[in-house]
Amino acid sequence: MSSGSHSSTLVWLRDDLRIDDNPALAEAFSQGAPLTVVYVLDEDSPGLRPLGGAAKWWLHHSLTALGADLAAAGSRLLLRRGPAARVIPEVAGETGTTQLLWNRRYGGPERDVDAGLKEWAAEHGITTASFQANLMFEPWTVRTGAGGPYKVFTPFWRACLDGGEPRLPLDAPGRLPAPATGTSGQPPASDPLESWGLIPRTPDWSAGLAATWTPGEAGAHGRLEEFVDGPAEAYGTGRDIPGVEGTSRLSPHLRFGEISPFRIWHTLREHFPQQPPAGVGIFRSELGWREFCWQLLYENPELATRNYRPEFDRFAWQTPSAAELTAWQQGRTGYPLVDAGMRQLWQTGWMHNRVRMAAASFLVKNLLADWRVGEAWFWDTLVDADAASNPANWQWVAGSGADASPYFRIFNPVTQSKKFDAEGRYLRRYLPELSALDAKRIHEPWKADAVPEYPAPVVGLPESRARALDTYQRLKED
Ligand SMILES: Cc1cc2nc3c(=O)[nH]c(=O)nc-3n(C[C@H](O)[C@H](O)[C@H](O)COP(=O)(O)OP(=O)(O)OC[C@H]3O[C@@H](n4cnc5c(N)ncnc54)[C@H](O)[C@@H]3O)c2cc1C
Repeated sequence: MSSGSHSSTLVWLRDDLRIDDNPALAEAFSQGAPLTVVYVLDEDSPGLRPLGGAAKWWLHHSLTALGADLAAAGSRLLLRRGPAARVIPEVAGETGTTQLLWNRRYGGPERDVDAGLKEWAAEHGITTASFQANLMFEPWTVRTGAGGPYKVFTPFWRACLDGGEPRLPLDAPGRLPAPATGTSGQPPASDPLESWGLIPRTPDWSAGLAATWTPGEAGAHGRLEEFVDGPAEAYGTGRDIPGVEGTSRLSPHLRFGEISPFRIWHTLREHFPQQPPAGVGIFRSELGWREFCWQLLYENPELATRNYRPEFDRFAWQTPSAAELTAWQQGRTGYPLVDAGMRQLWQTGWMHNRVRMAAASFLVKNLLADWRVGEAWFWDTLVDADAASNPANWQWVAGSGADASPYFRIFNPVTQSKKFDAEGRYLRRYLPELSALDAKRIHEPWKADAVPEYPAPVVGLPESRARALDTYQRLKED
């Protein structure tokens, strides 16, 4: 360890709320200088997308866990609110920072903020260094033969893997350097987390989230262990069945960087040292989809607001009626799979991937709503709401995205329900009013004797499908 007597390090954490495999923290540890670890709630820098409600809930609990973990390691978490371009220089001034470290982020406005701070640091004689932590393959390193970004997933992922295994994760440092103190001899004052108002109060809708999730690094590692000891082996088939826990549920932990993709990758490698089961390869390629989405966002910073395929700018989306939109949001469309999914989302902040596809397809095709309407609702309600994966997947469903599902592929919520939830286990969990129906009737309750508490379908499937195909046909002919 080396440290000049007057040096002081500032590690600025963002979407990397962890100690394990955190290259910026590992660097600070190896140097040993007094350390400030700061998280900035930045709702002010131009272009940054404000967090949705469920993500705010998660952030609150994740920061609580991180604060405790840092304290246990002899450090502390400093919380500050405001535009990073103002807050980071303030904290640097208070702590006599000589070196500023962070792990890289990949969204457009975030990169602008970071570039500005690098310039500011250089002007003030503060050294900076940034690290690769949250993506295994950084967007600019994966290029086609012609030097451009990939537009199709399969060759993208092949090119990633051709470059060799992702690096090994770095172990968590045991004890971190002591907190830096300012001229007052005290570490700088932290905002009380409660003052940020991240958790809902009136009404408090978070009970279902609290019953489902354990935000924080320990919760993330617990999920990973459960996954490798359980569903990982049969992931290839289990991942499509919403009624069983067949997937990892790591998405919100990855979103907030409570676990690194490198750690996940190599834990699977160690767990299946020989030829891994096919499901593990499929799981790895899902991690690859996450990387692909981030590459898309990196190349298209406006992915959440602009059609990736500009021809969709002419698509004749319809504004759904208030009744239709509310029915979709509240899980009262009359189509059980869509409704179960939307209620799972509202109650737990998460929805199974297969059901996400069916619920999204219903909104953009059967109700002909602009995909941005659904993207915004998911952004507000998902605990894993991700700046890249959310818009990329909505555009994939809508047909306006990269490597998208063709527009004419319209998920039939009844067929999907019968195929992937044949016994109706998932439906019964979220639609108690249908629980008395047998496995044959539950997918199409309108054919059963009246179930008074459950709504009739908001649109007919054949006509809404024909309307969607017709609208698409007109786009092609224009
Ligand atoms: C309309 C729609 C919106 C979506 N919005 C989000 C979002 O905001 N945030 C988000 O993380 N995922 C999103 N997804 C992708 C996917 O549904 C979730 O990543 C997955 O359901 C999370 O559950 P899991 O962790 O158990 O996944 P697993 O099946 O265990 O997969 C492991 C990890 O791979 C990644 N992954 C899996 N599928 C995808 C995918 N299609 N695209 C990108 N990454 C993927 C996730 O990080 C996930 O945690 C969306 C999908 C759709 C159809």
